Amino acid sequence: MTGETQQSDEANNERVAKAYDRILENVREILNTTSNITKKEFDRALKQAGTSLDDASKFTKEEIEKARKAVRKDWQAFMKTANKQKDDFLQSEQFQKIADTSLGMLGKMTKAVKNWADFIDGKIDEQITYHTGEVAGAGTFECVECNKTMTFKKSGRIPPCSSCKNTTFRRVL
Ligand SMILES: [Zn+2]
Repeated sequence: MTGETQQSDEANNERVAKAYDRILENVREILNTTSNITKKEFDRALKQAGTSLDDASKFTKEEIEKARKAVRKDWQAFMKTANKQKDDFLQSEQFQKIADTSLGMLGKMTKAVKNWADFIDGKIDEQITYHTGEVAGAGTFECVECNKTMTFKKSGRIPPCSSCKNTTFRRVL
């Protein structure tokens, strides 16, 4: 890979991260007053959030689609964690750390989900994995190889594990 390509990849990831933040914000606004968020409603909000971004900005369709997928993935990861911890989820120490971030707001929205099972793609206990190069929201990721955790304060590209250079992670929160 040439230096130039690397640089444009980086710029691209930054743009996707920006689109991620904007889409997340829009989804939150759209679903703000919804007392029972269903899968259909979430997906509709996600679509709408991306589309409104399309009009006003210079984001490409591809960047918006990537960002949309990343938001959905983080939401799914939250759903699984929240489902596992039930009522303790929003009180957990890990969640408190991110409660005030935009991602934390996404976590709080899981409270308005009544039907978990219908919502979650795939098996409920299956870990959602993240890979180096993907854009994800802020939070802590654990390397599946060496269990080293890395914490990011804002959304962006996931780097390789800082300890063993492995490229697969799970979200701690
Ligand atoms: Zn590692």
